[in-house]
Amino acid sequence: MSETVCDPVSGSGGAGHPDRSGLVVNEIFGPTVQGEGPSAGRICAFVRLGGCNLSCRWCDTPYTWDWTGIASPVPHDPAEELHLLAVEEVADRIRATGVDRVIVSGGEPLNQQHRLVPLLELLSSEAVTVEVETNGTHEPVAPLARLVDRFVVSPKLSHSGDSERRRISAAALRSFRELGKSDFKFVVTSPEDLSEVDGIVAANSLRPVWIMPEGRDVDTLVRNLSAVADEVVRRRWNLTGRLHILAWNDARGV
Ligand code: SF4
Repeated sequence: MSETVCDPVSGSGGAGHPDRSGLVVNEIFGPTVQGEGPSAGRICAFVRLGGCNLSCRWCDTPYTWDWTGIASPVPHDPAEELHLLAVEEVADRIRATGVDRVIVSGGEPLNQQHRLVPLLELLSSEAVTVEVETNGTHEPVAPLARLVDRFVVSPKLSHSGDSERRRISAAALRSFRELGKSDFKFVVTSPEDLSEVDGIVAANSLRPVWIMPEGRDVDTLVRNLSAVADEVVRRRWNLTGRLHILAWNDARGV
């Protein structure tokens, strides 16, 4: 049984509250394949959590947080998009996909990191591999860090429209780096963005680095990928496309 919620965890702007149970979920889907990053192409299920502490102007999941039309032509309705689900229900829906890899994404999943721990404890007892995608602004708490197999940390650049103070946390990036199970993925729109990535990578000693072109349609994705590929290789970084755009043209729920 689920209930619709309008004010998830965004009020805290932080890491959620350990006393509240259940997860504020936007959607759960699978089986599908991970479209991007170090696990691109791998069979998996997605748990997309609601709420985000940033407001990137090119966000590809504005339906998880954009209730005023910042990143969308029309505002999304939190009453339709956010659902408070019990941990057992989330686990049941993951089990129903029949896969052994789960991508926890958002929005910003670490807005709810205390709430996530009971779910990840359940999944770890069932030998499910868990990857968490995060914008890298919240330091992961120890119980969560222990249960996650891989963090894909995606610090945002200035073209997101978010201020540097909001989008870059040196303390959080250091925590992810020191875990030794984090990949750092940057969304770029042009070769010039790579200079900004240079600065963040050097200042925070980040590696491995992945570069992903921004693009929610095939033409934009391929154009941006081609524009940065040579410079990414020259830097000895990793390059990823977005398989779900190529396969399903950014349709939701696949
Ligand atoms: S951090 Fe991610 S989910 Fe949040 S606004 Fe930016 S792109 Fe969207």
